[in-house]
Amino acid sequence: MEFNRENRKTEEVREAAVIGGGIAGYSAALVLKNFKLDFLWFGAKNFGEKLYKAEYIRNYPSFTGDGKMFCERLEAQRQYEGVQRLDKRIDGVYASDGGFLLTCGSESFLARSVILATGAETAGSIRGENEFLGRGVSYCAVCDGALYRGKKIAAILSSAEFAEEAEYLAGFASEVNVFCRYPNPGFRAGNIRVMRGVPVAVEGNLRVEKLVLREGELAVDGVFLLKNSAPPSALVGGVETEGAHVKVNRRMETNLRGLFAAGDVTGKPYQYIKAAGEGCVAAYSVYEYLKKSS
Ligand SMILES: Cc1cc2nc3c(=O)[nH]c(=O)nc-3n(C[C@H](O)[C@H](O)[C@H](O)COP(=O)(O)OP(=O)(O)OC[C@H]3O[C@@H](n4cnc5c(N)ncnc54)[C@H](O)[C@@H]3O)c2cc1C
Repeated sequence: MEFNRENRKTEEVREAAVIGGGIAGYSAALVLKNFKLDFLWFGAKNFGEKLYKAEYIRNYPSFTGDGKMFCERLEAQRQYEGVQRLDKRIDGVYASDGGFLLTCGSESFLARSVILATGAETAGSIRGENEFLGRGVSYCAVCDGALYRGKKIAAILSSAEFAEEAEYLAGFASEVNVFCRYPNPGFRAGNIRVMRGVPVAVEGNLRVEKLVLREGELAVDGVFLLKNSAPPSALVGGVETEGAHVKVNRRMETNLRGLFAAGDVTGKPYQYIKAAGEGCVAAYSVYEYLKKSS
């Protein structure tokens, strides 16, 4: 997505921002709160699907039960501790004047430091995704939906969380061809078509022209890949990665000054305890960073 500095209304500069509402992000937010820092935490309710949907958790100290029960306990603690959460998806992070500018559609936020706790997408990517990113491939309906007014598009939904984004796209596009990786929840808009078939690639010339399926192909002007975690490099320009993960040191520092990362986004093992631990370390590092740089 193109970022236009002129069109955005920004707020006051916060000391920190945490992106990602899973256990890594929550753990970081809890520690930042205890340090009495002025921060924003971006994440959706229920601490993310990976927690809420866990059938049985047997490896988190002091807890035995399913993900729903775990989320209920975290929510009770969040409310008790007064940790505020903003239900917003950040679509871009830009280094700006010694801090960071975070964008979410037409809104923007400023923070001196950022903790990236966006998780890892395990649903996999499709061929051509990187090549056509910004040329017909998008990860964000709210950011780019209006670019497809009157056009025919495809939307690949990795979870039920994204059904509303497909409805949003239907307000612009002439036709939204939806591929669901979960049972079809039913859609309201008449121009949404629920498709069968397995998308394997995006192809085109200068821009996307078609979605290739295992069973054939579909001519489209754009493809929205609506998944829980976009590749970190698509969210933060210039961040160093190792494969699909953000490269960090033991203090959870990335190659960008003031940018930290925690949880699945930094690599395996994909475990709650590791994610929570890294969130805590990242928050301590933010505290040290702010002290040194103020
Ligand atoms: C079905 C299942 C069962 C599991 N069971 C276990 C288990 O029993 N024990 C165990 O230790 N581990 C288990 N895991 C692994 C565990 O879920 C992960 O290791 C853990 O959730 C990682 O936490 P995280 O906070 O790093 O990422 P996530 O839990 O993935 O949370 C990241 C959150 O950030 C959000 N996000 C992403 N991008 C943005 C953005 N740009 N703006 C705002 N929000 C954003 C995502 O939507 C997501 O909600 C399980 C995983 C699954 C899928």
